[in-house]
Amino acid sequence: MDHKQFEAEVPTFLDDRLSNEELADFLEHYDECAACRDELSIQYLVRAGLPKLETGETFHLQKELDSCLRAARERLHRRKRLRSSAYILEVITLLACMAAIVITAVFI
Ligand SMILES: [Zn+2]
Repeated sequence: MDHKQFEAEVPTFLDDRLSNEELADFLEHYDECAACRDELSIQYLVRAGLPKLETGETFHLQKELDSCLRAARERLHRRKRLRSSAYILEVITLLACMAAIVITAVFI
């Protein structure tokens, strides 16, 4: 992922509409690139911070952005785990079907 792509995906990230692969790439670039970390801070401030400042709520940019990113990493982790357990379940089902076919073939 390059800076341009990162910048373009920030609104999608803030809406939580990135796919798993996109989110993984996005977070990886975020970790590696200081310029894009700044970019995300600015866009996050505009998106999430300004409405709160207008209503007079306190807003800690770095703290809230950190928890937003932590939540995104947890979501990604959970989705990946969910996908691998779905895969394992599929394999087990397939094996059970094959076993049933073999047993049927042997006993009939
Ligand atoms: Zn960058």
